[in-house]
Amino acid sequence: MINYTERIRVLMQDVVSRTPELSFINLTEVLVFGRFGRPDAEGAFATCHCLTLPETEPGYYFWRDRSTGELTRRSEWFVTKTPVVRVGPTQIKYLISFVLPRFCEQSLDRSWKRELYGSDAPWIAKLDTIVHELYHIDPTATGIRQVAHANGSRSRLHGPEFYERVALIVRSYLATDPHPAMLEFLKWDFAGLHQRFGGVVGTTFRNFPSFPQRYMEACRALPVDSAVKVEPLKPLTQPPLYTEHDLHVRQFTDSSARRLTRKGQHRAA
Ligand SMILES: [Zn+2]
Repeated sequence: MINYTERIRVLMQDVVSRTPELSFINLTEVLVFGRFGRPDAEGAFATCHCLTLPETEPGYYFWRDRSTGELTRRSEWFVTKTPVVRVGPTQIKYLISFVLPRFCEQSLDRSWKRELYGSDAPWIAKLDTIVHELYHIDPTATGIRQVAHANGSRSRLHGPEFYERVALIVRSYLATDPHPAMLEFLKWDFAGLHQRFGGVVGTTFRNFPSFPQRYMEACRALPVDSAVKVEPLKPLTQPPLYTEHDLHVRQFTDSSARRLTRKGQHRAA
């Protein structure tokens, strides 16, 4: 079977090593993993998740009486934190998730991205997505790359210049004449991958379909005004620390993802 997330990781390494603009990226601090998503459903193909956002200042939720405006209830104090993900001695700074099998079906032929790539092969859409997610890694290491708009505001959402920049990087990477074997797996859709490799597997987290995400942690040491009812926070649903032991290789099918039970499959992506 083909380990799809591993193949993406190897390709990313090749892209980064041939692209001066992305050469600041240290891929040992980036973990590639798979999420499940049907090909026929709407949604993202891939996402870049930043793990370097700092803990927030303590805060709380509150509820007011609609007519009097008076405080009726409040939550406990909490801070919002980012879980730590560590693979061996390395702390991971970014996660990049690919939605499988949806991503395998991505094609320029069904995309507005066609206009960025002219008559290029349909599978270039997948390479574009891979480079797009790498391009989200901020060179100043402060989170997700933001895009400065002409009006001076900055936003996580990308304007046309983001997509054009990514297409330029894709074209210059292809112009470096990468080894065809590096890219070949992108040419197959999900059925084609099955035919050729007998199945598609990828790195996932133990708590699949969940994965490391920001969470709220109660600060019980802070004083609380006892005049109003205090609602406790929901208990934590995910660990504050993930390690390589929390990585499971799962097989992705059209309708699900199931864990491979074979030992020795844990892979630090
Ligand atoms: Zn994006």
